[in-house]
Amino acid sequence: MLRRMLLALSDSGGTKEMVQSAPLTRGLVHRFVAGETPSAALGTAGRLLTRGLAVGLDPLVEDTLSRDRAAAVRDIYVDLLRRSRALGAPEGAVDVSVKLSAVGQFLPRHGEKTALENAHAICAAAAGSGATVTLETEDHTTTESTLAIARELRADFPTVGVVLQSRLRRTEGDCRELTGAGVRVRLSKGAYAEQESVAFAHRAETDRSFVRCLRMLMAGDGHPVIATHDARLLRISAALAARYERPLGSYEYQMLYGVAPEQQTRLAAGGETVRVHVPYGAEWYGYFLRRLAEQPSNLAFFLRSAASR
Ligand code: FAD
Repeated sequence: MLRRMLLALSDSGGTKEMVQSAPLTRGLVHRFVAGETPSAALGTAGRLLTRGLAVGLDPLVEDTLSRDRAAAVRDIYVDLLRRSRALGAPEGAVDVSVKLSAVGQFLPRHGEKTALENAHAICAAAAGSGATVTLETEDHTTTESTLAIARELRADFPTVGVVLQSRLRRTEGDCRELTGAGVRVRLSKGAYAEQESVAFAHRAETDRSFVRCLRMLMAGDGHPVIATHDARLLRISAALAARYERPLGSYEYQMLYGVAPEQQTRLAAGGETVRVHVPYGAEWYGYFLRRLAEQPSNLAFFLRSAASR
């Protein structure tokens, strides 16, 4: 019920002002969202790079059913990537996350083709700026289409990454297909509420699936990306990297801006590649509330943060 309430609020423009202006909530938003503008995100990215962390820029843009809006979102990325050159970051230190639904995947006519064309333009801009691109995954209905688009893009841009969700029953099979040389797979638990027919119902099953998937990726020739803050899974990931004699830099950790900063610092101090995911944009409100709604543990975290301020 709480989840439904939060999702309803995420569509309500009126409450955005309220959340933004309440001092406590505003503090929480700024802890997890870098700001509303590209300049704010690039400022945060610059500070993280100085601390030896890599960055993943994430413009917060919602899905669209308009071709014009999809093109406008593409241009937001192209502009961001052009501006990111001023950071002077080493090759590959900047990645951008792309939600295909925001660049046209859900258009009723030729949605997949439009998303592919827009994502291709974003990948070309990234290549020109020494950056990489990762395709995010949304709910299970989009997985097949997202993997197909990733396959097409990799033909021209071999560093294009894709997110897989260990919560989905299909993911072990997908991992098996994605262990080739250089293939970047960002393994996460998955943020979407899914039916038991397609997803594991219990957290323990999702965690066991995460470990099975990661073992496969670590044993392969690709570039596994470990996207979790779960301390136990982080320990297991380190053990798997050692078991498969993975050199530093042949895999990486990714975490969200403002989440588990002590783990980020600890891993980076040990020479690991740690990429901090930096969300920003005027459309932060839906993202913020969906993070609360999607995972009860996230909600508990936010409430604990609020209580400790
Ligand atoms: P959990 O068991 O949920 O959390 C472990 C601990 O981490 C918690 O106890 C808590 O202390 C802390 N924690 C976790 N999340 C938060 C939070 N939001 N705020 C504060 N504390 C937190 N999901 C997708 O479905 N598609 C994607 O494309 C995608 N991309 C991602 C990219 C990155 C870089 C990361 C880190 C996650 C991504 N996710 C994505 C989200 C992911 O699937 C999980 O929903 C989220 O990361 C929480 O899961 P966890 O692995 O940290 O484990």
